[in-house]
Amino acid sequence: MIIGVPKETFPDERRVALVPTLVPALVKKGFEIWVEAGAGTEAGFPDESYQEKGAHVVSQRVELFGKADVILQVRGLGANPKQGHQDLKMMKPDQVIIGFLEPLGEPQAIRKLAAQEVIAFALELLPRITRAQSMDVLSSMATIAGYKAVLLAAETLPKMFPMMITAAGTISPARLYVVGAGVAGLQAIATARKLGAVVSAYDIRPAVKEEVESLGAKFVELALEDKDVATSGGYAKSMDESFYRRQRELMAKVVAESDVVITTAAVPGKKAPILITGEMVKKMSPGSVIVDLAAERGGNCELSRPGEIAVEGGVTILAPINITSTIPYHASQMYAKNISNFLQHITADGKLKLDEEDEIMRETRVTQNGEILHPQVRELAERTS
Ligand code: NAD
Repeated sequence: MIIGVPKETFPDERRVALVPTLVPALVKKGFEIWVEAGAGTEAGFPDESYQEKGAHVVSQRVELFGKADVILQVRGLGANPKQGHQDLKMMKPDQVIIGFLEPLGEPQAIRKLAAQEVIAFALELLPRITRAQSMDVLSSMATIAGYKAVLLAAETLPKMFPMMITAAGTISPARLYVVGAGVAGLQAIATARKLGAVVSAYDIRPAVKEEVESLGAKFVELALEDKDVATSGGYAKSMDESFYRRQRELMAKVVAESDVVITTAAVPGKKAPILITGEMVKKMSPGSVIVDLAAERGGNCELSRPGEIAVEGGVTILAPINITSTIPYHASQMYAKNISNFLQHITADGKLKLDEEDEIMRETRVTQNGEILHPQVRELAERTS
């Protein structure tokens, strides 16, 4: 089985789907690894480092797509809406495509993949079950995003994070508030605590209170009545506008008192809820910083401009997109480990091993035999066509 690793083509994408250290184990399992020249360069993995580990480096992308049985990508078509189209014509029936494909946001891209008769696996749809943890690219990338969000905030804030008692007086610690304590939020808490900030956090799912506290942060209790806030999969549910209004009212005080607010609140497949309004930003002290990690889903802050920096009343609002690509070495290392575990899960003896009973394969396989298999994606594709 030939595994092809093309160079990423999304603008400013610096990650690569496979790193050299994982090549020998895959070769031992009988895979041949083909890497497009320059694929790992931006992440710190030059072509020679792949060759030394037993991979072939090919200069022509068309050759890679022509020969590979399986393509490993970070951003496949849906997650790379413009440039991704150029790969479509190179794909061949029954070729396996694995990567982020943004199936819920870009269902028409999935339709195009179906038309090419490829077998596409969207890693965003991986079930959050224990068995799938070693393949969980969303968690890996969220970990990096949470870490980097704190670094961006520390760099932007005109204050230091730790408390310091010096001959020049006492410096009080920065107060940081994390909204949404999922994977990214918990990593942001841990990173900010290591830098010495005083951290508080809130999540709509009360179950995370213990995790927040175990990291040395205070869990902010908001008197929100609704108990039915999470799906059976552990994700937050989409709530109605009156719930979010009440949440904003209750959070206004803690936001106003914070030097840094990091928001990560997301609802899978939906636009991120607005939790910080322009009015709330106005009440923050000049110099304060908001890092909106939900920017790619529209943002949790009303004033966020995805991919840009906004300054309102002295408050800086950062809304980074593709933040994980700014730490390409470790982002690629983690992504590659996850995707290679996934590859080994769906193959046996050099062949694709499709098991309809297996939740991991069933949930992630979006197209095969010219059809969109995933019911939710199919319905979205029909509704938006
Ligand atoms: P996510 O990126 O979808 O959302 C981030 C966080 O925002 C979540 O914690 C969510 O509850 C929170 N949120 C949503 N709306 C909010 C609101 N109005 N106010 C405040 N917070 C709000 O989530 P995620 O980080 O991907 O994690 C989702 C779930 O998956 C969690 O239960 C996590 O523990 C679980 N998980 C399980 C596994 C596994 O078992 N393999 C792996 C990773 C995550």
